[in-house]
Amino acid sequence: MIDLSHLRADFPILHQQVNGQPLVYFDNAASSQKPRAVIDSLVHYYEHDNANVHRGLHALSNRATDAFESAREKLARFIGAASPEEVIFTRGTTESINLVANIWASEFLKPGDIILYTGMEHHSNLVPWQLAAKRSGASVQHIPVLEDGTLDLENINALLTEQVKLFTCVHVSNSLGTINPVKELCARARALGITTLIDGAQAVGHMPVNVQDIGCDFYVFSGHKMCAPTGIGGLYGRAEVLAKMPPWHGGGEMIDLVTLETSTYKAAPARFEAGTPDIAGVIGLGAAIDYLETIGIDRIHEHGAALTSYAMQRLTELPGIRILGPATGDRGSLTAFHLASAHPHDLVEFANTHGLALRGGHHCTQPLMKRFQIPGSSRASFYFYNTTAEIDRMMEILHRAVTFFS
Ligand code: PMP
Repeated sequence: MIDLSHLRADFPILHQQVNGQPLVYFDNAASSQKPRAVIDSLVHYYEHDNANVHRGLHALSNRATDAFESAREKLARFIGAASPEEVIFTRGTTESINLVANIWASEFLKPGDIILYTGMEHHSNLVPWQLAAKRSGASVQHIPVLEDGTLDLENINALLTEQVKLFTCVHVSNSLGTINPVKELCARARALGITTLIDGAQAVGHMPVNVQDIGCDFYVFSGHKMCAPTGIGGLYGRAEVLAKMPPWHGGGEMIDLVTLETSTYKAAPARFEAGTPDIAGVIGLGAAIDYLETIGIDRIHEHGAALTSYAMQRLTELPGIRILGPATGDRGSLTAFHLASAHPHDLVEFANTHGLALRGGHHCTQPLMKRFQIPGSSRASFYFYNTTAEIDRMMEILHRAVTFFS
């Protein structure tokens, strides 16, 4: 396994005790920690360049605009978009999906159409489509999940039909760690003229992502899971698809000409970015991409895979454990499990008393918990600054928990 432990020095928050024990932070799938470089970029912006973007003709506004737009260029390159104009800044995955489920759907969904998602989607990739279906008279269907945590694609031809107008799928499941075959699925969908949206919340910043290679129409993600501040994220939209979409929010920045009667609108991305954006957040996201690129996304992915495989191997030591998701093969850098002896909430509270941050519950995937007939799971999710020594520490604590609860 590559040793990236020197990078821990870049993360001030990791060097603290929780409940008298050194912090072990394994809740990265919920939100990653932020390196000094990202924190400094925010301070620098507010201390030197703070001004509104795009509007001013003065030095500070020009500097803020340059930093803002250069972050868009970095992001476009990082996810393999054909141009920065295909990258829209949003508050994150949830807002990006809602934008598409409101705007694209209002224009293109009609009664009788089908929205196809999967049984392993996060609530934020289910609820907006259910709302869109209700508004448009379309219906929702899903691809089931197999016992091993992969998609049941045996009947895919019966599900992915010409009646489907929108197909959406999570790239990496936040509850199972499954990496879905999004490229193959998008190719099938595209052949039938179906619009596609991929939820990349657990993929961007963790593994190489190239939206053109995947061949999707939309790809959505959150900055806070990839070292950037909270409140900033993105929506990639293929230029041709964005050009056909009406605006979402109306306001400053997104217009061309306004009269008292009517208005005309700018092209993407401005059309979808009404009002003053989260300038500091965007700059922080740009700094996060710079930071991740100095490590290398391939190395981050390799390290995450190695940590996960080590954790999964060690977790089998625990009596009565059920580990969810694929047992072998490439997977996301997280593992979720259920212990017969303890409810996930009790286990996570026990872990916390020993300085270990896990997550317990349904992880915003209630249909998946129902599918596996469990009340919830405990999840350990890793990032490049985590180590095998921390996994050993987690195992010590979980062994104690098993004794405590049985
Ligand atoms: N999709 C997946 C797969 C996720 O893991 C998450 C965050 N847990 C989301 C969507 C929602 O992301 P956010 O809350 O940042 O909008």
